[in-house]
Amino acid sequence: MTETTVRTALVTGAANGIGRGIAISLAAAGHQVIAVDADRAALDMLCADQGKLIGLVGNVADEEFWSSGLGAVTERVGAIEILINNAGISPKRDGRKVMGAAMELAEWQKVLDVNLTGVFLGIRAVADGMSQGGWGRIVNMSSMAGRTRARVAGVHYGATKAGVLGLTRTFAGELGPRGITVNAVAPGRIQTAMMGDGNSATDIAMLTDTPTGRFGTPMDISAAVAFLVSDSAGFVNGATIDVNGGALMI
Ligand code: NAD
Repeated sequence: MTETTVRTALVTGAANGIGRGIAISLAAAGHQVIAVDADRAALDMLCADQGKLIGLVGNVADEEFWSSGLGAVTERVGAIEILINNAGISPKRDGRKVMGAAMELAEWQKVLDVNLTGVFLGIRAVADGMSQGGWGRIVNMSSMAGRTRARVAGVHYGATKAGVLGLTRTFAGELGPRGITVNAVAPGRIQTAMMGDGNSATDIAMLTDTPTGRFGTPMDISAAVAFLVSDSAGFVNGATIDVNGGALMI
């Protein structure tokens, strides 16, 4: 953080991995953080660990969650000023992606629902409250797989992460005049449960091709998010920050 204005922040997919890192770092910077996750057990553990967080169980792909579920919390803490759309899934079978030509519609649809529709629903739910305050920060989690092709993940994942970038730019144009910035972060391989053990042939090839010589950590991503949500970043809008150790330079 480059300043200490205290905000009300909501982080999705906050119980594990990257979202957990973001929620903890925003809380450490003094913000009031609402941690949303579909995984109740992991969320309970996070909140027991980090006393200052408000835990909220919910599915980002569920329209009802964004109205009544979130409404019950904002009645208590006020409008959301910072939204981090981080929740995402990357289904695999036996640890490997299903090839696009063999993918069932139900699997394709599920990933679109969570990774893309969930982002749309989240922004739609908070936009009016942010507009009323004349200030807002929205950060959407894309991926290196959305900047180029998905190698480890499936075609559904690559499509949604590229879709997140288009959605980010369009919302940035629509909400910028209301004092709200909308940006994306595109992580490379980050050490979380989603990444797995990092020992696959593709992971080893990607690591060899990463100039910094290591995989990323959730803290690498939360540092980029901390900048984007700061007051100092008010002129950064519709941008994508690549955090990939130089594995992809565009
Ligand atoms: P993770 O699997 O470790 O954690 C994801 C969290 O999201 C989990 O706590 C899970 O319960 C939650 N979640 C999943 N579906 C949900 C839903 N419908 N509603 C609410 N919560 C839900 O994953 P991660 O590695 O921390 O990934 C976080 C984000 O970063 C994702 O959007 C992912 O696509 C993106 N990303 C990750 C990597 C990586 O290498 N780990 C790389 C690029 C992008």
